[in-house]
Amino acid sequence: MMNKADTRTEKALDTASSKSASEEIAKLIPGGVNSPFRSFHEVGGHTIFFNKAQGSILTDLDGNTYIDYLGAWGPAILGHSHASVVKACQDAVEAGAVFGAPTLLELQMAKSVIRHFPSIEQIRFVNSGTEAVMSAIRLARGFTGKNIVVMFEGAYHGHSDSVLGSTTHQSSTGLLEAAKEQTVLTPFNDLNRLEATLRKHADATAAVIIEPVCGSMGVVLPEPGFLQGVRKLCDEFSTVLIFDEVLTGLRVAKGGAQALYGVRPDITTFGKALGGGMPIGAYGGRRDIMDALMPIGAVYQAGTFSGNPVTMAGGIEVLRLLDEDTVYETLDARSAQLFEGIGQLVKERSLPIQLQRAGSMFAIIFNDKPVRNFDDSKSIDAERFAKFFHHVLNQGIYLPPSAVDAACVSAAHTEQDIDMTIEKMTRAFKQVF
Ligand code: PMP
Repeated sequence: MMNKADTRTEKALDTASSKSASEEIAKLIPGGVNSPFRSFHEVGGHTIFFNKAQGSILTDLDGNTYIDYLGAWGPAILGHSHASVVKACQDAVEAGAVFGAPTLLELQMAKSVIRHFPSIEQIRFVNSGTEAVMSAIRLARGFTGKNIVVMFEGAYHGHSDSVLGSTTHQSSTGLLEAAKEQTVLTPFNDLNRLEATLRKHADATAAVIIEPVCGSMGVVLPEPGFLQGVRKLCDEFSTVLIFDEVLTGLRVAKGGAQALYGVRPDITTFGKALGGGMPIGAYGGRRDIMDALMPIGAVYQAGTFSGNPVTMAGGIEVLRLLDEDTVYETLDARSAQLFEGIGQLVKERSLPIQLQRAGSMFAIIFNDKPVRNFDDSKSIDAERFAKFFHHVLNQGIYLPPSAVDAACVSAAHTEQDIDMTIEKMTRAFKQVF
């Protein structure tokens, strides 16, 4: 039985400077954002402009502070502006921000990633998750001589034509029809359907690409045996298995989802947390596949800023810090504390809320049953989420402005941050239900 809704509303924060900046920027930058995820079109209202990010705290133009659960959409795993990461990047800028020739930082970074991910024998560094996925798919096509890419409904793999065109939630015009035709969708957590898809395109499938934990439809966990089954089917149909670990890479465990679930992909893509806040993407895997890249092989991929020294320096420092045992203990303890705290209220009041989490990525899903695939995510109550979003925003909690995208805890969040968040979310739940 649900209690009567609390009708008091939070006093709105004074965000006048953000409001006027958002109006002005919209005249010069489409929608006022350089990436549509950042806009508030789903939740309403104007975007908040921040001018400082330190540890777990964001500060906006009007001096309001927020406990941050966006984590910059994933990168801020240690919290913002970690002193030694900042120092490493500063040193790299001073030594030369870009050379256009190999540096020892690239060598060191390659060693650092490979040490954490045994499935990776060789790696290439690029500038974004999108670029990593785009390159990995071209590589799989070049290596196998086949064209079709199988991906899972509701997944997000960046905005290249091959993986955006067919995603049912990101339909964009302007994509090459031919690229869309070569991408086939299948539901997450359904091995029978995957098998049928692969059978149908038996001799034509270059790759299966999967977010091992799907972060863009509500942090959907793979059911027991699912990833192992995907691996087996890829072997059976001689198809390259690409794990898109752009988000999960360092988030769900030190060795990513592949370590957590014990499944070895052929290629892995990375981004976000790997660069210490600097723009990064990377893809790597089996040596025989990576050998297909130019200048050894015939698959082309290049980039003026690929393996950028500043990014490499930030990434090396992040990976060094993540080796400290306490980081993952902290990430897990804080994330568990948050879920226990809000879980209690959800249980007491039987709220139609699903709490879905893997490591330090989580989602508070406004749905009456767990989300295990894209179809389930369609019944999420985005309107109620929008109200909740603004209630917590007005109390100084910053969540992703989306009812389905993953939120993130960082190692800089303190127990007090989490306690305060539980208290404020509890108030917000009482107001929206
Ligand atoms: N793959 C996954 C799983 C992602 O979460 C994202 C970003 N949300 C991307 C690819 C694209 O990365 P980027 O935004 O750096 O291009």
